[in-house]
Amino acid sequence: GPRSAELLERQQRRESNARTYPRNIPIAIAEGSGSFVRDVDGNVFIDFLTGAGVLSLGHNHPELVRVVTSQLGRLTHALDFPTPAKDAFVEAQLSMLAPGLRERMRVHFCGPTGANAVEAAIKLCKTATGRGDIVSFQGGYHGCSHAAMAASGLVSQKRPIANGVPGVHFYPYSYCARCPLGLRPDTCETNCAGLLEKSLLDPNGGVARPAAVILELVQGEGGVIPATRDFVRRVRALTRSLDIPLIVDEVQTGCGRTGTWFAFEQYDIEPDVIVASKALSGIGTPVALIMYDERLDVWQPGAHTGTFRGNQLAFAAGAEAVRILHRDQILANVRERGAQVAERLGELRAHPVVREVRGRGLMWGVELADPGDGRSAGQLARQVQSRALRRGLIVELGGRDDCVIRILPPLNVTAEVIDTACGIVIDAIEESYR
Ligand code: PMP
Repeated sequence: GPRSAELLERQQRRESNARTYPRNIPIAIAEGSGSFVRDVDGNVFIDFLTGAGVLSLGHNHPELVRVVTSQLGRLTHALDFPTPAKDAFVEAQLSMLAPGLRERMRVHFCGPTGANAVEAAIKLCKTATGRGDIVSFQGGYHGCSHAAMAASGLVSQKRPIANGVPGVHFYPYSYCARCPLGLRPDTCETNCAGLLEKSLLDPNGGVARPAAVILELVQGEGGVIPATRDFVRRVRALTRSLDIPLIVDEVQTGCGRTGTWFAFEQYDIEPDVIVASKALSGIGTPVALIMYDERLDVWQPGAHTGTFRGNQLAFAAGAEAVRILHRDQILANVRERGAQVAERLGELRAHPVVREVRGRGLMWGVELADPGDGRSAGQLARQVQSRALRRGLIVELGGRDDCVIRILPPLNVTAEVIDTACGIVIDAIEESYR
């Protein structure tokens, strides 16, 4: 519409941020409510981007609005001092961990974005182990600050940067749809994990014992790729046997997104460090933290500080979000709506241009293949995204060449909205491939 066009044009002239989401989703957003946003011209869209997975209870959940508003008149910023809002938030966060893990975990607020928490996790493990190398996985994403970017396996962002953070070693991830080793899932014997084992166990080669291994259990930006169970369990067993801290980056998968509070629960493993951010407050008031095993509790006073660590508005919202999660049985909804997505989008599996449909909970991706008509899979995905937008649905792309259509609905989304949105995705793919 004309008002969107005007704001987009003004943004384009002044902000390089215009080169991200607004380039392919050209709308200016006026307001949001639940699973929907309205643009400045009055058009309404289903929002399955939800601020990159931040708005887990949708836009402007009324109860979150109420607690944030009430906190706003009481206390907004208190550095690292204890406050009732912070105490309630930490209590709520720890209550979501299994007993045992809960007792062992310490919390460190970093802030305010996911990348800040990744930096903290890496730095803590380096401090605790006295070692410097990091093991990460191909296709992973951990953020745009220096060390987080260095640990990311998506390479296009860091290629132009001179003198990046050294000492990060990449290993293949269990991306079975396009196996990095060219193997087949039924006969591969999880050789991706095998390669890492070989390298870390080989005394005369491979990587010197690293300070940490950092892992996404479902690669999000990498294209919604759930790690296989065998892969994760072997990485955990190996790191445990060599006393290497395992960092799980749950920035995107955390806070219920995959159907459990954290994705690692579904693999029956316990990490040494958990990184969380995006949906912690449920309403987009920024907050990021790490939870780490008490054995790693080595930081001296002042070792890792920062001004914006722990936003009181986020604390108030986050504690309330956990209360709502229990009361409204949000995790059950994630699993039920996830099963609905699996069934609806599963129809696409036979489609000639669809390579794979995969996901966990309410984190789903449709990976497209090259259509064989001169367009790349990534170009096709871009067209699907535009067509979906025209039909009233906001989706994001991801994956190695942006060939995966990604959806991240609010966790309290209704069956009806899921049905409509899946229909739009299917129609947009049909329409783009004819
Ligand atoms: N880790 C993961 C898994 C992410 O998905 C993201 C953000 N997409 C980050 C880290 C970085 O978070 P932020 O953008 O808040 O710095």
